[in-house]
Amino acid sequence: MTNLKKYLTEIEKNDKKGKKINAMLQVAPIENSKKGLLSGKVITVKANINVEGLTASCASKVLENYKASYDATVIKKIKNEGGIILGMANMDEFASGSSGETSAFGPTKNPSALGYVPGGSSSGSAASVAAGFCDMSLGSDTGCSIRIPASFCGVVGVKPTYASVSRYGLIDLSMSLDQIGPLAKNVSDAALLLKVISGKDDCDAISQEKNKIDVKQIENVPQKLKIGLIDFPIKDKRIQNLIEDKIKTASEKYGWKIEKVKIPYLDLAIATYYPLVYVEFFSGTRKFDGRRYGKKIEEVCGPEVMRRILGGSEITKAEHEGRYYNQALKIRNLISKEFEKVFKKFDCLISPVSPKLPHEIGEKISVEDMYAYDALTIPHNLYGNCAMSLPAGKINGIPVGMQIACDKWKDELMLRIGRSVEKI
Ligand code: GLN
Repeated sequence: MTNLKKYLTEIEKNDKKGKKINAMLQVAPIENSKKGLLSGKVITVKANINVEGLTASCASKVLENYKASYDATVIKKIKNEGGIILGMANMDEFASGSSGETSAFGPTKNPSALGYVPGGSSSGSAASVAAGFCDMSLGSDTGCSIRIPASFCGVVGVKPTYASVSRYGLIDLSMSLDQIGPLAKNVSDAALLLKVISGKDDCDAISQEKNKIDVKQIENVPQKLKIGLIDFPIKDKRIQNLIEDKIKTASEKYGWKIEKVKIPYLDLAIATYYPLVYVEFFSGTRKFDGRRYGKKIEEVCGPEVMRRILGGSEITKAEHEGRYYNQALKIRNLISKEFEKVFKKFDCLISPVSPKLPHEIGEKISVEDMYAYDALTIPHNLYGNCAMSLPAGKINGIPVGMQIACDKWKDELMLRIGRSVEKI
């Protein structure tokens, strides 16, 4: 049985039937006989990335019949290297969420902890890898969306340095923060997919060529590392202890130095992120007025998307006083300056991906509690450096991810650290 057949059988068994994971919105394999770095690899794609001929619905009624007319740059690159696109993965509507529950086509289940949310917004991407529906997946990360689902589902998820991967063909949530990145079963596969999709693209003016990833290098354990363990109040001590124990074990084995580090203004990250996202999202969604693409967004979207449109519109109206967006940009700048300083002292920063374990599917949680999942992931989007989630262990059977973050353009170093810790 070919790889693809094996995955299709598994999807048939457990996506809409059996365990009812609901990771896939569309299964429509695009076979590929090209030989390249991804020959034979089967890849699912978050439904906010354009794949020619497939439905880029963003898991929304707005675009439920929107067939993409072109390939995003990342898709072109995957096809050129022989990768097989399997279909489109479920997600939070327009990438707005942390749990995978805001999809207009039903929540995704967590294959590694049935009954709990898989994390979002790249819920179907992480779940399709964890459920054994594919080799790898593409997700997008604005504030958490690759790392939180990777953490909750127990897979590897990488948010690359901002501008290292072309965003051409990604339907944006917030263009100054979004990055496409890989999710995979292990660090080597994630590195391979990142290598393929990285690089300068004439269709994305800010993209750069600086990320050279040598997949063989990933096996080399970095020497003499200085690791900063982020000092941040985390109520669930089990999570903090698990992450600390794991990085201490790795550091003893490899001779790395660890020090606790407090980063000023980190507690302001969530309050800084949302005004930026609301405004950029509001502006980006004005094209969904029902004339060219699908339906009018305000008429059919879910409550979280509506909250952002209304919030973004209000902030934009009040902005002549420079009160919110401008203020948020200033704090973003302050946080970035702190990261610049801290990365002069440390090669890498470690923290949990999420300060909390996932909630049960259907459990009602407040908007604030939903936003709080991202307290430790958002800061890295504000600064724009690379950060990844690596499975670090389990608490009561629920996977917990370690966040490994390095400075901008140090993605290869981050992957080497990830691989070294993965071996333990
Ligand atoms: N949870 C955050 C939000 O809802 C991040 C989502 C994302 O990274 N796409 O905005």
